[in-house]
Amino acid sequence: MTSFLLTNIGSLVTNDPTHGGLLGELHDAALVIDGANVAWVGSRRDAPAADGALDLGGRAVIPGFVDSHSHLVFAGDRSEEFAARMTGTPYSAGGIRTTVAATREATDEQLTANVSRLVTEMRRQGTTTVEIKSGYGLTVADEARDLEIAGQFTDETTYLGAHVVPSEYADDPAGYVELVTGPMLDAAAKHSKWIDVFVERGAFDADQGRTILRAGIARGLQPRVHANQLGEGPGVQLACEVGAASADHCTYLTDADVDALASAGVVAGLLPAIEFSTRSPYPNARRLLDAGVTVALATDCNPGSGYSSSMPFCIALAVREMHMTPAEALWSATAGGAASLRRPHRGHLTPGSRADLAVLDAPSHLHLSYRPAVPLITQTFIAGRPV
Ligand SMILES: [Zn+2]
Repeated sequence: MTSFLLTNIGSLVTNDPTHGGLLGELHDAALVIDGANVAWVGSRRDAPAADGALDLGGRAVIPGFVDSHSHLVFAGDRSEEFAARMTGTPYSAGGIRTTVAATREATDEQLTANVSRLVTEMRRQGTTTVEIKSGYGLTVADEARDLEIAGQFTDETTYLGAHVVPSEYADDPAGYVELVTGPMLDAAAKHSKWIDVFVERGAFDADQGRTILRAGIARGLQPRVHANQLGEGPGVQLACEVGAASADHCTYLTDADVDALASAGVVAGLLPAIEFSTRSPYPNARRLLDAGVTVALATDCNPGSGYSSSMPFCIALAVREMHMTPAEALWSATAGGAASLRRPHRGHLTPGSRADLAVLDAPSHLHLSYRPAVPLITQTFIAGRPV
């Protein structure tokens, strides 16, 4: 193992509350990486010797972003649909079928190249862990193929055969649920850590969602849910009932939904780039935080409802539009995402955690929302290595 010292860090966000505050921020700090992990953090003056060193000239260092929700395995482009939406056409779940058709047509090489391009884009913006869902294949062979491609880029792969009912099953949704919980699950399970379902009007109802999630759990997959995006509905309660890691979207919640998330310990994944790109009301983050719910911020990067790969953009939206403090937004984009993916050694910079971090060309993390849309990330490290 080789050790490496990052020193002259103007502000180091550790997410370790023993250093004070939500973010455990240290000033004039240093950090030692040993192999893939963080070995030491503290004051620059106390830093131990290491095999190599880099002087960061007073820049800020934060834990790498953990993007706990994305749909990167797809082909095609829906920019025309976006333009139409901006002049008044409302968003509906049906647009997903457009991408399904393009994805089925694409070659393995085209799909792999597209995921690679987007993951590279994310890393440049400070993302060090990304969850990637299937859901644009919706046949046994296409879902297995899309998950295998996702698995070349991340361990956080999610089987989302239950994204929408594809057109060929429009008259037989029950038959599609049988496929999703039978042969498609058989083909997908070995490539997946997670199982997800889109519980929404126009997609799947609570009973279908329960059947699908329970089938996945029986095969060793862990559940997460697309819940309450377009209106109030049963998604959040279902997520709590099955012990899901997260209920994502959470745009329309009843008081009972908020209580259920808090008492079940299910992470609420908020995806404000979607509300931005569909011109929809934002979720009420303050209501969730005040109730003690763990909040994660993620991009939901996808070609339809929101095609941003930028966690700093989500942070800026969370602060400006959802009234989260900059500290809450950064915590949710790092430690919150790690909680959503059940990764205890990510999302913070403490001895023993994986050395996933981003260097900002700024003296403080506050600049992430203070200077929106400015490319502030100058370097990203994953498992101790610059990427
Ligand atoms: Zn999604």
